[in-house]
Amino acid sequence: MSTIRIAVIGAAGRMGSSILENAAARDDLEISTAIVSPDHSGDSILSPAEVEATDDLDTLAGADVAVDFSAPSAFVDAACRCAELEIPLVSGTTGLTAEQWATVDEASRKIALLYAANFSVGINLLANLVQRAASGFGDAVDIEIFEAHHRHKVDAPSGTAKLLARAAAKGRNLDLDEVARWSREGHTGPRSDDEIGFQVLRGGDIVGEHTAYFCVDGERLELTHRATDRGIFARGALRAAKWIVGRPAGRYEMSDMLFGE
Ligand code: NAD
Repeated sequence: MSTIRIAVIGAAGRMGSSILENAAARDDLEISTAIVSPDHSGDSILSPAEVEATDDLDTLAGADVAVDFSAPSAFVDAACRCAELEIPLVSGTTGLTAEQWATVDEASRKIALLYAANFSVGINLLANLVQRAASGFGDAVDIEIFEAHHRHKVDAPSGTAKLLARAAAKGRNLDLDEVARWSREGHTGPRSDDEIGFQVLRGGDIVGEHTAYFCVDGERLELTHRATDRGIFARGALRAAKWIVGRPAGRYEMSDMLFGE
């Protein structure tokens, strides 16, 4: 089995470090370059992979695949450079503008590009199951999404809770923006048939917990995912990086990797 050479973009960040750590622990992967921000003021050798930090995108040449967890403008620059060098790219960087997405889409005409807002394999499997359950229950079901996170999280509900609600809405042929019930308090009146409600808990060091409830008269189905380690995102991204090498140009999602041919 030949080793896959991975270029890491955003290598000094939390996710970049986790990618380096998880890749260093495997013998089927090798870090070919660790790209950091031009403003990088930390160590020049990044452990545990013991690779030299650089801000030179030309070092992408020679990689089999690039993995990016950085910032929107850095992701866009990396996508353009990868397109020139014909290197497939995996990214989880969030917060791009529509204009930045247009540039990324343009790049994906030349290279295989897999993007996921959540690289957990379990969450991506859950989203698929949620859509199927919503479709299977049909109109009769009341769907609620519960999420719990650590006390430092500043936004609610989580992006993943919205992702799951969107999957449920898709299964019911509904538009989440029209049926989302973001919170309830006071005299709320009875529940409407189509609404998808959100419940939020904040406390302690909970890494992330999500449950989709499907309630009908006489029975209730609960589908739950519990994250215990943030390394799931890095491991999911590395699995995607291995999978995308050799794929034709185009945009891919985690579901293509998990449920494709
Ligand atoms: P972070 O702030 O810890 O790391 C980002 C790193 O990118 C920093 O070290 C920063 O200096 C670097 N960077 C900025 N500009 C750069 C450039 N031009 N070239 C190279 N590096 C550059 O953030 P993080 O928690 O590691 O998250 C990074 C991104 O990944 C965010 O957009 C975050 O929302 C996203 N994220 C996605 C997932 C997922 O599963 N999809 C999971 C966690 C985080």
